[in-house]
Amino acid sequence: MIEILKFGGASIKNTDSIKSVVKILKTYDNENIVIVFSAIANVTNLLEELVELYTEKSSKVSSKINEIKKLHFDILKDLFHKNHQVYNTVNNLFIEIDWALEEEPNLEFSYDYDQIVSVGELLSSNIMSAYLKECRFSNSFLDIRDVLKTDNSHQNANIDWKLTEKCANDNISSFPSVTQGFIGCTSENFTTTLGREGSDFSAAILASVLNAKKVVIWKDVDGVLNADPRYFNETQVIPRLSFTEAVELAFYGAKVIHPKTIQPLQNKMIPLHVRSFINTNKVGTVIDNSENINNLASFIVKKNQILLSISDKNLSFIVEEHLGYIFSLFSKNNIVVNLMQNSAVSLSLCVDNNRYNLSRSIDELSKKFDVLYNNDLMLYTIRNYNEQVISSFIKDKNILLEQKSRNTIQFIVA
Ligand code: ADP
Ligand code: ASP
Ligand code: MG
Repeated sequence: MIEILKFGGASIKNTDSIKSVVKILKTYDNENIVIVFSAIANVTNLLEELVELYTEKSSKVSSKINEIKKLHFDILKDLFHKNHQVYNTVNNLFIEIDWALEEEPNLEFSYDYDQIVSVGELLSSNIMSAYLKECRFSNSFLDIRDVLKTDNSHQNANIDWKLTEKCANDNISSFPSVTQGFIGCTSENFTTTLGREGSDFSAAILASVLNAKKVVIWKDVDGVLNADPRYFNETQVIPRLSFTEAVELAFYGAKVIHPKTIQPLQNKMIPLHVRSFINTNKVGTVIDNSENINNLASFIVKKNQILLSISDKNLSFIVEEHLGYIFSLFSKNNIVVNLMQNSAVSLSLCVDNNRYNLSRSIDELSKKFDVLYNNDLMLYTIRNYNEQVISSFIKDKNILLEQKSRNTIQFIVA
């Protein structure tokens, strides 16, 4: 049976980490594996900056593209002799970006974004496929755009599951296959992307349509931890999680798994392992259909939050009709609402600071409502809280809003 392995950007950020990936893959030998790569660490951020400069017609476009080229060619120099054919492949991918940059920006930003930002995964997967062959790990390169079919909602494309299943069965026949996360393709052959951090989701989609036996995502942490290690010390690995609990953690923003990843796996009961590419002797976390046995208090952090306070200009109640208008505006502009609280005359919403659309949405809202907002906040979520955990957490914190349910407490902190 097929197994899907996903390696994120951190695992291929330099030659040392790339060599650890090769070592891991060599333990699989001739098994039926599909290997999904994200772009090299930070490349998606740099490509996003590039698209923004391009749409602003900034003079900094060429220095940004040179920075991205240098990052890739520095890695190539370490991994390959100078006449290797991978240099041509990589050069050709950069020529595609250069051509795109020569065109006038499209009216639809998201379309341009997808054509340019998707190249990050094409670069990394081509480099990894070639390097694995150099290391005598034979593999076939798969352009995932021949398989993963989506609608044309650029930057956040929706999967055409039926067509994807058919294309996967038609096109994935030789193993191991090396392919890309994060990107897909419309039926008119335009490249799309699935949303930031979407490569975990790509791995789950492939697992679902190929009826894989499991998915392993290889991370720079020892598994799913009970707290975000960037903000908390003394974290612990959660050895086993139910699908439902994993969905909850991902939903509240545990960055370790993309929120859309779990559902396709849960539907087909395909277990997900989260393991470390650094400490390969650690067993990591298994997420499956078992009863949830995790009752560790888990801390999730979302930074860069904005707290909006929306009230009617005539101080009348925020009624359903208003709520409908506000939420459809946010949905249209891809604004993610992480928490809401309603009072008699105002509605508080904690949203991600979507750098593309938020200010536009606030301008539009301000035509109908009084809108106040606080920037640069943190949203903390604690699952499985207890009073002791809460009292030590809130010490020294400036809490703007608190919301509590049976298993979960959330704080918006300035
Ligand atoms: P990748 O490039 O493999 O997709 P990410 O950087 O997207 O990796 O995700 C892994 C990171 O997620 C870890 O390095 C860690 O900082 C962060 N993280 C946040 N919450 C958790 C958690 N609960 N458990 C493990 N890692 C977490
Ligand atoms: N490279 C994409 C990103 O950085 C997708 C991913 O890594 O999951 O968002
Ligand atoms: Mg990621």
